[in-house]
Amino acid sequence: MSARPPSLPTIAAIATPPGRGGIGIVRVSGDGLESLVEGIAGRSLAPRVATRVAFRDAQGNAIDAGLAVFFPRPHSYTGEDVVEWHGHGGPAVMRLLLARCLELGARLAEPGEFTKRAFLNGKLDLAQAESVADVIEASTASAVRAAARSLTGEFSREVHALRDALIDLRMYTEATLDFPDEELDLLREGDVRARLASIRERLDAVLARARTGAVLRAGLTVVLVGAPNVGKSSLLNRLAGDDVAIVTAIPGTTRDTIERPVEIAGIPLTIVDTAGLRETRDTVEALGIARTRAAIARADLALLLVDARDDAASADEAADATLDARIAALVSELPPGLPRIVVHNKCDLAHLAPRVERAADKPVAVWLCALSGDGIALLETEVRRIAGVGESTEDAFFARARQVQALTDAARHLAVAMDHAETQPPPIELFAEELRMAQEAVSSITGEFTADDLLGEIFSRFCIGK
Ligand code: GDP
Repeated sequence: MSARPPSLPTIAAIATPPGRGGIGIVRVSGDGLESLVEGIAGRSLAPRVATRVAFRDAQGNAIDAGLAVFFPRPHSYTGEDVVEWHGHGGPAVMRLLLARCLELGARLAEPGEFTKRAFLNGKLDLAQAESVADVIEASTASAVRAAARSLTGEFSREVHALRDALIDLRMYTEATLDFPDEELDLLREGDVRARLASIRERLDAVLARARTGAVLRAGLTVVLVGAPNVGKSSLLNRLAGDDVAIVTAIPGTTRDTIERPVEIAGIPLTIVDTAGLRETRDTVEALGIARTRAAIARADLALLLVDARDDAASADEAADATLDARIAALVSELPPGLPRIVVHNKCDLAHLAPRVERAADKPVAVWLCALSGDGIALLETEVRRIAGVGESTEDAFFARARQVQALTDAARHLAVAMDHAETQPPPIELFAEELRMAQEAVSSITGEFTADDLLGEIFSRFCIGK
């Protein structure tokens, strides 16, 4: 991927956010910036030294005075010549400075174009390049840390290690394809299977960390269903904890349809209360209902609240049997495959201890007391389990759906490869092909096998100037 057309147009953008601030930066990248530097600074600049200069317009009049830093290629963010003009952070002065760069041959940079060039010039791999946007957009400390793990290359190193192990195994396999007499022995040798098994283990570990990160990044939408008075608000408040700052009803929602952000073990959850799902002639309320229905359609999990006293007599009864008709109607509206947890609330009043029950053919059931918080930890564990998030989110990779999908594809190919390896006689060509496809999937994460249109889409989501 490091090969690129010899000369891409010079690009320029204001790299600092709009508005007024102490400093504003215009950044320029291109294949030869000497004349642009001369044109603005009136002199050449020593590499990587902050130099105080006046920024001049075409007539030689000062636009501003500030610092200029010149990074000659290839030792720059993009791998091209880069110059940064650190001026005073006012919108008008920044626009003048940018216009001056355009006058000297640069064009406006597209969103993410600096980072795209860094990728094309091999300064960052694709996973790192994507994490640049993640670091900028991260809104919580744990999100920043997870994104930084990708930016500094920790995720890429794991992915590269997987790819290298796959290449090793492929070389070994493909070599024997040329010596058909030895084919049969190849897969019989425990070594190949052991190596494949260890790659799969490694892949599963990376996948688990990436899945956790993907959940951290996207969060989960949880639908809360229950009859009035069963304790929905109490549960919401309990999940939200004391942190009032993160518990705000989204403005514009009606009284009856509430989306509230809460957090469980670092996972951002959007809880959708379905209290308002009923027939109405009121337009505002009808809008709220449509909104709730839309939220249900994109939900990841449903929490069905029932009163533990209703099932105290026979806890073994199917949980759904304890739901009244109204709840049953709501439940029937949930998407069929939507995972669900039946929460038997007020277990204190039912004289039951908090517990979890998992039975085949039934949703998981948790008994708890929303009022005191007893058993809430059990519910949190089940939510984490359904989300595929382990005990800790500390080592998560802030992965995108695309990356999780690629790792999942690779895992599938390796599972099929293992089946082939265990077949007698082993279909060696099919085995080799699965390894190849697994390697291709893994390589797409860091960008070795990524189509141009995908690159366009990835970088277009960046902000301008990055
Ligand atoms: P909602 O209408 O479903 O939102 O229910 P609320 O959360 O408003 O709760 C209804 C009533 O039940 C309130 O008086 C709560 O204090 C009470 N309640 C909720 N959860 C529990 C619980 O676990 N134990 C007990 N004893 N009372 C609870």
